[in-house]
Amino acid sequence: MLLNEIVEYNKEFVDEFEGSKLSHIPQKKLAIVACMDTRLTDGFLEKAMGISRGDAKIIKNAGNNVLDRDVIRSIAAAIFALGSKEVILVGHYDCGMSNVDGEKLKSIMLERGIYPEEIAKIDIEDWIGSIDSEESNVINGVNKIKSSPLIPDDVPVHGLIMDPITGKVDILVNGY
Ligand SMILES: [Zn+2]
Repeated sequence: MLLNEIVEYNKEFVDEFEGSKLSHIPQKKLAIVACMDTRLTDGFLEKAMGISRGDAKIIKNAGNNVLDRDVIRSIAAAIFALGSKEVILVGHYDCGMSNVDGEKLKSIMLERGIYPEEIAKIDIEDWIGSIDSEESNVINGVNKIKSSPLIPDDVPVHGLIMDPITGKVDILVNGY
């Protein structure tokens, strides 16, 4: 069982790790919104950007989507409660949320026992956060954050796009 494997591994990890006393305040005063993509895990996104443990608040979800009010909540918490002064939204090429097939998703959900009337209540592609283009998703996301009445105007919001193979980032929006 995967969970047992994880808990077993954790015992060894804790035995070997000497612990660290990092603050919960991000040292680079930075909040990052990124995709949950599996290739950006194990610190890949952070290493590619020179972000160390303790440097930034990192908010991840499917498709670095900022439509969810929880992303704005987390950015606001990073700014007002935790001292972040800049926000970077990082998208990536070859995103799994690109052009999601709504009909296919619907049939998988039905097969898995989700009630049709529940599926009928949502616009499936919109709800799951299907994106047409990774670049425009970043630009739209940056605009959503900037136009939120709960995010102060003096916080620069930048938009980057990452190549998940090489880690290279390109600036799509320079928030300065
Ligand atoms: Zn993605």
